Amino acid sequence: MGYPLDVKLVNGVSGDTALYVFFPRSGEAVLFDIGEIRKLSNREILRVKKVFVSHTHIDHFIGFDHFLRIHVAVGGELTFYGPPGIIKNVAGKLQGYLWNLLQPGHLTISVVEIAEDLSLSKAVLRSDDSFEECKIAEISFSPEDQRQSPAKKCVRLSTLDDGAYVEATLVDHRCSVASYSVQSPTLFHVDAEAVASLGLTPGAWIGKLKDNIAQNLGKEPIMIGEKSWLSQDLAPQILSVSSSRVLGFTTDCLFSLENIESLKSILMGVANFYCESCFRAEDKQRAFQKKHLTTKQAALIAASVKAKNLVTFHYSDIYNSDFSACTDEAQRYFSHYQGAENEIIHMIKDEISCF
Ligand SMILES: [Zn+2]
Ligand SMILES: [Zn+2]
Repeated sequence: MGYPLDVKLVNGVSGDTALYVFFPRSGEAVLFDIGEIRKLSNREILRVKKVFVSHTHIDHFIGFDHFLRIHVAVGGELTFYGPPGIIKNVAGKLQGYLWNLLQPGHLTISVVEIAEDLSLSKAVLRSDDSFEECKIAEISFSPEDQRQSPAKKCVRLSTLDDGAYVEATLVDHRCSVASYSVQSPTLFHVDAEAVASLGLTPGAWIGKLKDNIAQNLGKEPIMIGEKSWLSQDLAPQILSVSSSRVLGFTTDCLFSLENIESLKSILMGVANFYCESCFRAEDKQRAFQKKHLTTKQAALIAASVKAKNLVTFHYSDIYNSDFSACTDEAQRYFSHYQGAENEIIHMIKDEISCF
């Protein structure tokens, strides 16, 4: 059975970027980018407590004020994630207003910033302190929370209410831009026969074993009766694990080998890949100058990460007479490249060599 997700591009395929993702199992929603969001209802906005920002160019961030306006009525805790500079940008927005009439403890905004080396720092801004920057407490996440990949190209940012989690990498767009993916919750299946054949009796240790594997604590021992097992030794014998990348979000990205390598670290095998393609294939010089992708380049990236579906968006207004032609072009390239996996790297290099 597939993992259900309700996804919409708030402004369609052009204009400001904002991807609204609703998780039916938990009722939680998140936003990837917060450009103009007035097409969302207040109810939809209030479901969102976590916002993943690619970068703070105005077409990706101007919805912050509307989002804040809706949430300030109810208060609570919100978290923003983003690339280098996000703490300063969020604090600057908040400090643009006067906050003297809020009840104590009304609104807390956490900001998690991804540094160039993919380490994370967290600032907590409180309405009680008028969101003053001097009161920011920076907190480094523990290495266990970061779960960096061996190549350190990606970082785990957040676990969502239903156990799905969000990972990020940084790409170059003449500034660092965060790209994101969502991994479905890890599901464990216990092989009862294998448990019996090892002479073990099911018990609370199974839950502990699952927790250790889910949290990457393979070296943690598990006591079963008199015997101690290493989680990483026992798990492969009795547990099968399933989890998959269900969503990718990439916007404002130069077409380069370095960027594609970074994207692979969070996107391999992704089911639904939302990727900007500001320009049509014939306008690749323009795309290169503006550090954006074309339809063809988005399709090349989608094929190289073995995406199952590609959704292109953030089309330039120069195509406003016919956005569907942009979509058709991207899909034509994508279906062509999907069947040519072995040649993708040569095609990518060919495309880059034209600049
Ligand atoms: Zn940009
Ligand atoms: Zn943009």
